[in-house]
Amino acid sequence: MAKYFIRLKRTECIGAVSCEAMAPMHWKLANDGKIDLINSKLIDKENDIWELEIEAKDLEKNIDAAKACPVFVIEIFDEKGNKII
Ligand code: SF4
Repeated sequence: MAKYFIRLKRTECIGAVSCEAMAPMHWKLANDGKIDLINSKLIDKENDIWELEIEAKDLEKNIDAAKACPVFVIEIFDEKGNKII
């Protein structure tokens, strides 16, 4: 089954929570006013990039989350590393 990867540049999140509205199972506002990508791993400490692997069934709602982000800090890649959004 195809896998996809969400990446969040958390440091640039402004806490608008549009992503949480679109895919509440993956996004949750944290106490510091920025979003948490639930169960993600910090893959780039210097740039504060968090990554979560998702299945195809969760792709569409997270594309909607990425599109809804006003500061474009959510990216989604396929398993070959091609950027979807
Ligand atoms: S929509 Fe963008 S700015 Fe708003 S909480 Fe989500 S990641 Fe942060």
